[in-house]
Parts: sequence; C-alpha cells; structure tokens
Amino acid sequence: MIHENAWTTYSAGDLKKLEDLSADYIDFLNNGKTERECVKLLVEMAKENGYRDLADVIAKGEKLSKGDKVYAVNMGKMVMLVNVGEDIVNNGMNIIGAHIDSPRLDIKQNPLYESEELAYLDTHYYGGIKKYQFVTIPLALHGVVVKKDGTTVTINIGEKEGDPVFIISDLLVHLSAEQMKKTAATVIEGENLDILVGSKPLEGEEKDAVKAAIVKLLKDKYDIEEDDFVSAEIEAVPAGNAREAGFDRSMIVGYGHDDRSCSFTAAAAMMEVSDPKTTACGLFVDKEEIGSVGATGMESRFFEYMVRELLDRMGVCSEINLSRCLRNSRMLSSDVSMAFDPLYADKYEKKNSAKLGHGLSFKKYTGVRGKSGANDANAEYLALLRQMMDKHGVVYQTSELGKVDVGGGGTIAYILSLYGMQVVDCGVPILSMHSPWETLSKSDLYEAFKGYKAFLIEG
Ligand code: MN
Ligand code: MN
Repeated sequence: MIHENAWTTYSAGDLKKLEDLSADYIDFLNNGKTERECVKLLVEMAKENGYRDLADVIAKGEKLSKGDKVYAVNMGKMVMLVNVGEDIVNNGMNIIGAHIDSPRLDIKQNPLYESEELAYLDTHYYGGIKKYQFVTIPLALHGVVVKKDGTTVTINIGEKEGDPVFIISDLLVHLSAEQMKKTAATVIEGENLDILVGSKPLEGEEKDAVKAAIVKLLKDKYDIEEDDFVSAEIEAVPAGNAREAGFDRSMIVGYGHDDRSCSFTAAAAMMEVSDPKTTACGLFVDKEEIGSVGATGMESRFFEYMVRELLDRMGVCSEINLSRCLRNSRMLSSDVSMAFDPLYADKYEKKNSAKLGHGLSFKKYTGVRGKSGANDANAEYLALLRQMMDKHGVVYQTSELGKVDVGGGGTIAYILSLYGMQVVDCGVPILSMHSPWETLSKSDLYEAFKGYKAFLIEG
C-alpha cells in the first residue's frame, strides 16, 4: 500500500502489536544511548534468540550451515547478525544495515578546567547538530574510561532517578541584544559547548579548588585520575527517557531515533525470522554521522572479513565465492527519512516527501547538487521491493531529502553498492532530525518492522 495513512489500515490486533513494539522500542532507546550500549542490547537480544558468537564458532573449529545463527562484534561499537540460509554463494544475503551512532557532544581528551570557581568539561561535538539546541537542556554522561592498566570503568550518570545531570549555560536574554543578531550557526560557538560539572570548592585547597574537588570526587567514586580522560570515550547526550507524544499518544519523542528506530526494527525483524531461505544479515554500524569512517564505520572492511569467515565456516571460502556472495546480495540501507514538516513546508517538495504516519519511506537516491554522492537504486530492485511490500501489506511511501538544491545528506548505501549488490535507502520518517529530542510516528516504526521482515522472508 503506497502513500496511505497507515493508521487507517489497522485492525485491533495490529494496534496491539504496534503498541507492544513501541514499548519495546522506548526501552531500547532508554538503555541504548551510545553505540556501545546499543551493541550490548543487540547482542543480548541475539543471544536470547539462539545466536552464538562467531568468534567462538571459529575458535572451536565448528562448521556453519542452514539454520545457524551467529553474531560478530567489532570493538564493542559495531555488530553483525547472521541467520544462515541456503546456498550463500549463489543466493547471496538479504542485508539490512543501520547505524547506532547519533549526534552528541564528546568529552575532549583534556577536558577539565576551572573558570571563576566553576568547573567545566570541554567537548567536541559529533555529527551534524544545531549547536544552540544543546544548551540549557539536562545532559547525561555515558561512556567508558579505560585506565592504563586496561581496566574499564563504565560511566552512566544522569539517567537514573536521583542522579545529577549536567548543563551548558546560555547567555540570559536580558544581555543578548548583540548575540540575538548573530546567525543561528554562530549564536552558540562550538568552543562554548562546555558542560558545567561543579561549583563547590575543596576545603583547604587554594588554587582551582572547585576543579580539585571534582578530581577528588572522580577518584573517590570511580577510581579514575584526571589523566584517564586521555583514554576515555564519554558522550554527553540528552538526559532522560523517550516518551509517548501527543494527546493521542501516536508519536514517540526520543533521543537518537536517527538511526536507532531503524536499528531496532531491523533487529526485531531479524529475531522474528526463523529459518530464512536466503541468509539474513543485520548490520549495525558506528560512525555514520561522521562519514562512516574508522574501524567501526561501514567503510571499514570488517563486514567483508566476516563474510569471508562465514564462507570459511561453510567450507566454501574462495575469492570468487566471496565476490559472488556479495554481488548476489540485496541490501536495505536502513536509515531515517526527513518527515515533511508543515511548519517549514517551503523546504520540501510535498509529493516527493515522506509524511509522518505514511509508513516505511524508500529513498531511491539521496545526495546533494544533482544527486551527487547518491546511491541511485535500480528500478528493477524497486519493482521487486514494491511486490514484497504489497504482498505483506506494508504501508510504504517514497521520498527525497527535501527540495532540489535546498540541502541533502548521505547514508551507508553507497558503500555496500561498491560490491555490485542491489541497494536502496529506506527508513522511518523523523521530525526535527539531529535535534536532542526527535519525533516519530509509532505507525511508521511498525511499518518499518513489517517491511524489514517482509524483505528477510521474501528475498
Ligand atoms: Mn542516519
Ligand atoms: Mn543522521
């Protein structure tokens, strides 16, 4: 069903499933605010559903065949799930790839300082953000501090009831005559995104006594030294839980819908598909928001190396079989779409925009300035997907990234297309993308789940 309001298509049974999925998704969002936390949740989910660690399979010299389910984790920030089907070389795989990193503020390596008896942590923002949206909202700190001896301290402050939160100040409006004349891009400078973390001096300390008190507290409470920030990855994210939104509770407001709404629904679909004919593969990658770079981003060879390991475990590993398997695969690059926002209607071309509540949104191409940088999906592939979606009663729509030449963006689609496989972008439409609190429709979440499941069953 194309270009319909999904809500008008539901039976009571559908609505029950939709609400259950939404509740599970809210849980996923609340417990997965960083890529590392998401990997943990995805691995837990996989283990509960009979997936085994590919590293163990390899270590024990075991073989893999149809019906086997394995996961492979890369550096704790990227994970691949595989449910083995028939003839992986000639059938290829049905791959759903989504990212689990979201825009945020990263704590710098040498972050702690005191100014006028206030202590701050300096940050470097990650991904595309409107910096002014990150001031005067409660922030939580999530991440890891790896000490010189190799032990890891996990940080999670600002989420539990009774936890303190952190805040970045903004100039009061009374003194903002000059600031208000600045453009939105510069009204909050990147170097001013410093998080206020303390104001109480350490007794008996003369110089930088507030900072000294924080250093002491970090030592007492977490057994970490100031220098340990050097080998830490701490992310400041909006504090608090995702919530149902609207009088009718039809929407969810949460941090990181981009791209956890697609990650979660892809994983949920993977868990529901048993004994697929074609091997099903879920890819959950890091670093998409900064260009898919790095060892845990889609551009790393981890995926390819793991496919080689799979072929090896099946006793069919060769260079030609690897290239055949990849070339014969199909992929859904599962990333969020921009939902048409009536308050900013002039930035969209309405009939080629995703509408909130109109289901899973397919983007044949993304890109900027004449589709530059886009993976332009093939018409033949889209025809196949239309067939699948209709067969399974999935409500879907098609969209572009706004009006021509207004802006644009990219996803991981182009990277997988390098293998010569069929790839198209699709995902959940989002309002206020990349803001601290993004909005989606529960019905789009549900249709994405249905669409991904149809893809894994039919492909
Ligand atoms: Mn995204
Ligand atoms: Mn994004």
